[in-house]
Amino acid sequence: MKIAVIGTGYVGLVTGTCLAESGNEVIGIDKDIGKVKILDEGRLPIYEPGLLELVQRNRREQRLTFTTDLAAGIQGAKLIFIAVGTPQSDSGAADLSALWAVGDALAANVKNDAIIVIKSTVPVGTNRKLTDRIKAKGASIEVASNPEFLKEGAALDDFMKPDRVVVGVRSTAAGELLKELYSPFLRTERPFLLMSPESAEMTKYVANAMLATKISFINEMANLCEKLDADINDVRRGIGHDQRIGFQFLHPGPGYGGSCFPKDVNAIIHLAKTLDVKLELMDAVDRVNIAQKLVLPNKVKAHFGNDLKGKTLAIWGIAFKPGTDDIREAPALSLIDRMLAEGVHIRIHDPEAIPNTKQLYADKLTYSDRPYGALEGADALALVTEWPAFRRPDFEVMKKLMRTPVIFDGRNLYEPKTMEGLGFTYFGIGR
Ligand code: NAD
Repeated sequence: MKIAVIGTGYVGLVTGTCLAESGNEVIGIDKDIGKVKILDEGRLPIYEPGLLELVQRNRREQRLTFTTDLAAGIQGAKLIFIAVGTPQSDSGAADLSALWAVGDALAANVKNDAIIVIKSTVPVGTNRKLTDRIKAKGASIEVASNPEFLKEGAALDDFMKPDRVVVGVRSTAAGELLKELYSPFLRTERPFLLMSPESAEMTKYVANAMLATKISFINEMANLCEKLDADINDVRRGIGHDQRIGFQFLHPGPGYGGSCFPKDVNAIIHLAKTLDVKLELMDAVDRVNIAQKLVLPNKVKAHFGNDLKGKTLAIWGIAFKPGTDDIREAPALSLIDRMLAEGVHIRIHDPEAIPNTKQLYADKLTYSDRPYGALEGADALALVTEWPAFRRPDFEVMKKLMRTPVIFDGRNLYEPKTMEGLGFTYFGIGR
């Protein structure tokens, strides 16, 4: 099947590549000339484990091409996926300007027998609005909604072996075509869930709202544990074995970041507000998360008192989670901003996110391509992203490199007692 995917970011590039890998002829379309040039050279504009090899193979076997020319790119495509960004606008609502721009370009160029599929996360009602907008410009075409649930860092696995595929359609034919498209990925009897476009749009927000709620919940409990001499890690184990609760997404940390949870929580709050509905719980989830992003900076300040100016802080991990170079809304950025404002010198290491971090901070930080390099002369280390390489470092080497052996462990990777035994002053979250 010939497929066009508009937007070749984290979602569009993975979607297009996985669809090519299952035998389809895919063209990735992006307005960013630089991105398309990189892809045309067989390189990647983002980091996602395993993706480079798949892109290269499918390009070589001529199932995957890229262009900036939308009008030409969509010719002959049976399915046209839209995977452009839908960031948060100043009001908190999702900014749909990229989606409307694509919709208008499609209206002018699309053939009536194609189906447009919205993969971007969009407020409930967007499918209807896009359909009407395209119709008003003289084209009549079905718009389906197929929200994406992949996680950066494990995106290929999530796409190839999804827990479920959610598809919102208005016609049986569109549902059948999408079922055929996804059947290679659902061979292990994973469900293909057909519903209305409105329910599909809502499903994506409810999923992210639930996950964000779990994180803010455990963070709130962690903060209380600290005041009570209880250890959230023991409590987490104590509750996680209860099958009604489970372990997933109940790890305390420095607050959730990334390009999805913060904006999607705000988008659903905003959407409800336009309908005079107040989402008390979502408001609280957002507030708790904003406060949680200050927990690490506040711990650093509390330890050093008012004497932060001129101190050196090493930071391990800038990406909002391991396995990606994505630093959008990353909690490490809150820490960096606050420490820079206090006159702290910052030395960072991240296995993949240094180029993106350099774009934001240029020479305001010192960058190290090795974890130990960031520790040289540091008064403390803040561990913000739990990359695997940070799990079992050589603590003796670390102590030798640091001016004072102090660790702020934002992911509870280490055991407080062990760290004290090794001579570190150790601060975790909720312990
Ligand atoms: P991204 O910013 O990485 O990629 C978006 C791409 O769209 C960019 O390459 C941009 O140049 C391109 N684009 C913008 N306007 C365009 C236009 N008019 N024509 C052609 N290309 C255009 O975004 P992303 O992280 O891939 O997210 C895309 C959507 O998927 C968002 O709605 C997001 O909420 C949703 N989503 C993201 C994830 C994730 O983990 N990143 C997971 C699930 C859903």
